[in-house]
Amino acid sequence: MTEARIIVVTSGKGGVGKTTTSANLGMSIARLGYKVCLIDADIGLRNLDLLLGLENRILYTAIDILDGECRLDQALIRDKRWKNLSLLSMSRNRQRYNVTRAHMVQLCEAIIALGYQFVLLDCPAGIDVGFINAISPAKEALIVTTPEITSIRDADRVAGLLEANGIYNVKLLVNRVRPDMIQKNDMMSVKDVQEMLGIPLLGAIPEDPQVIISTNRGEPLVLQKQLSLSGIAFENASRRLIGKQDYFVDLNNPHKGLFQKIGEMFNN
Ligand code: ADP
Ligand code: MG
Repeated sequence: MTEARIIVVTSGKGGVGKTTTSANLGMSIARLGYKVCLIDADIGLRNLDLLLGLENRILYTAIDILDGECRLDQALIRDKRWKNLSLLSMSRNRQRYNVTRAHMVQLCEAIIALGYQFVLLDCPAGIDVGFINAISPAKEALIVTTPEITSIRDADRVAGLLEANGIYNVKLLVNRVRPDMIQKNDMMSVKDVQEMLGIPLLGAIPEDPQVIISTNRGEPLVLQKQLSLSGIAFENASRRLIGKQDYFVDLNNPHKGLFQKIGEMFNN
């Protein structure tokens, strides 16, 4: 059996799409047949449950496990659509609790012992309290940024923090990309962002109003019957994460010959 992968989804700046990314990658990897556990580790800014439509089903949190109030399997909420996807919330909204590094490692070990192959941690932004503890069980990280200079600069800082904490396997996801603005030179291209940061690119997700609709419905984009461009891009990123695809989706031309090679995308 291959080793389980524990991946933190993080960013420098808040509000750039970590939770959207965690929900969609988690759901997509589960649909590809893997056992996935999503951990909402953004204590205080919990909302992964909403994006997955699981907010009414949370009875226990990880803090209840640590307090000895329940067992791990009682706090894991199984998605009804894909039973190999589970969600664990760290805490109730706004509840403050001192979750240590040892607690995080212990939780992840117990989850993996249940047969989970992927643990995705929806992590606080790099500047927030709890960041260092939340990343401690992980061996891999995904940094989410938008193509804006402030977000990129903060992403660079987080990359440094990850490295200082022994996480060297880091990939980049550029979110809220607008090909129309890139064409007019009003937005940095994905290639520019990637080169500025020097982190290997996992994927690029377009700005898409469907993200808001899917959040309100509690139904990740990758579950839509007719995939939107962002849904296609998230699915592409998941397949790349598990090594099943090596090309990138073309954000300018997603429906005409769905996929194009990386070189072509970079030339845009
Ligand atoms: P974070 O977890 O980093 O704080 P979220 O995933 O909660 O970020 O996203 C922040 C806001 O941005 C949400 O309102 C979300 O709907 C919106 N958003 C994220 N990605 C996109 C996108 N690709 N297109 C449009 N809106 C987006
Ligand atoms: Mg979030």
